[in-house]
Amino acid sequence: MKAAVSKGQRLGLRIDEVPDPVPEADEVVLRVDRVGICGSDLHAAYGEGEMAPEGAILGHEFCGEVVAVGAAVDWLRAGDRVAPMPFRGCGHCVHCLLGQPHHCPEGRIDVISGFAQYSRAGARECVRLPPEVGDDDGALIEPLAVGLQGVRKAQLPVGARVLVTGAGPIGALTAYWARRLGAGPIAVMARSARREPIARALGATHFIAQQDCANPHEAVCDALGGAPDVVFEAVGVPGAIADALGFVKPLGTVVSLGFCSGQDSFVPVVPLMKEARLLFSMCYERADYQYIVDLLAAGERGPRAIVTDRIGFDAMPAKFSALHEGSAPDCKVLVSPWA
Ligand SMILES: [Zn+2]
Ligand SMILES: [Zn+2]
Repeated sequence: MKAAVSKGQRLGLRIDEVPDPVPEADEVVLRVDRVGICGSDLHAAYGEGEMAPEGAILGHEFCGEVVAVGAAVDWLRAGDRVAPMPFRGCGHCVHCLLGQPHHCPEGRIDVISGFAQYSRAGARECVRLPPEVGDDDGALIEPLAVGLQGVRKAQLPVGARVLVTGAGPIGALTAYWARRLGAGPIAVMARSARREPIARALGATHFIAQQDCANPHEAVCDALGGAPDVVFEAVGVPGAIADALGFVKPLGTVVSLGFCSGQDSFVPVVPLMKEARLLFSMCYERADYQYIVDLLAAGERGPRAIVTDRIGFDAMPAKFSALHEGSAPDCKVLVSPWA
């Protein structure tokens, strides 16, 4: 099969011919119909550490059709369309039973290869897609689930003032869920106004471009009518958590969703004086996936607003490096490995 494999040493991706995957007993093999490029893929390929050594195949936001079934799989068959949670758990620990395979002590993400024409996936981590859920929507389920869990964890009071820092896909989708789950005013803040239309399409009532704004604190309070009850941090660079703790109101909540692997710091007295709550949220549960599938199957199309480009496989390495360099003005890019 064709795969976009990592060149290692922060050199990006190349399209290569690699052996087709074979399912283990509790796995399926999927024909990858659509896969999204995630900021964490860029981070793995270009960030510190050897997260994507040479030959690794990234890509975890995808949907596809079952083409092979492991010996122990009894509920999926060839031809089923699914979106997999990109982890394969043991199936019997408490986390697997709760639908949280990413916390399974035996959990593995390396079985997944979404940047390829085929990928293995844990069968029990797959959620079936009805025909009403197209491939583009199927590839958005994973990032949608990230945002959904983040907003769930905040236990958003109805009418809450919400600030989202960062206007990438996760920031935009967090605004989307905050809108659906009862927020009042929602301000999205980013360096520039480039993503304002996307953030507004997904539910932001205000957009704050830091580069045009002398006093961000004032701008946030003006926009929301007071300091935010909840701040969702979706920036993922050092300093982002300190900023969020600075913005949040006394007794408020900060949910950190950003993927930051560098050292970071904040001054504890700031959240101490506020008695603020700081939570971290990385993934989702199986129930989040199912809820999103049901929503999409019922006709919800709002999340598509984050998609700014759709490309074929051969265009992928160049797009991947352009996203890394910041020369591509995209939000979410979807890739068709068979086009
Ligand atoms: Zn992702
Ligand atoms: Zn487990």
